[in-house]
Amino acid sequence: MNNQQQMNIDFSQTTAEVCDKCGNDTFSEVFKMRSLSPLLSPTGEKGIIPINLFACAKCGHVNDTFLPKDDRDMKFTPKED
Ligand SMILES: [Zn+2]
Repeated sequence: MNNQQQMNIDFSQTTAEVCDKCGNDTFSEVFKMRSLSPLLSPTGEKGIIPINLFACAKCGHVNDTFLPKDDRDMKFTPKED
């Protein structure tokens, strides 16, 4: 039993994530909201889905690397399957 294992991170081996826009290194929790068309919703009603993200605490910018992968795909490539 070693529950300490997952806390055993060497911070000298990590790099700071900074805001792509202003270089600030603190972030606050924000939500993106996605709405689901009633046509696609299992309940037949419009659904709202919150997506938890981290935005720069200074300028509010959200780095691309913090975006969910699906969100990035939606932004840059048309959805094909
Ligand atoms: Zn910023």
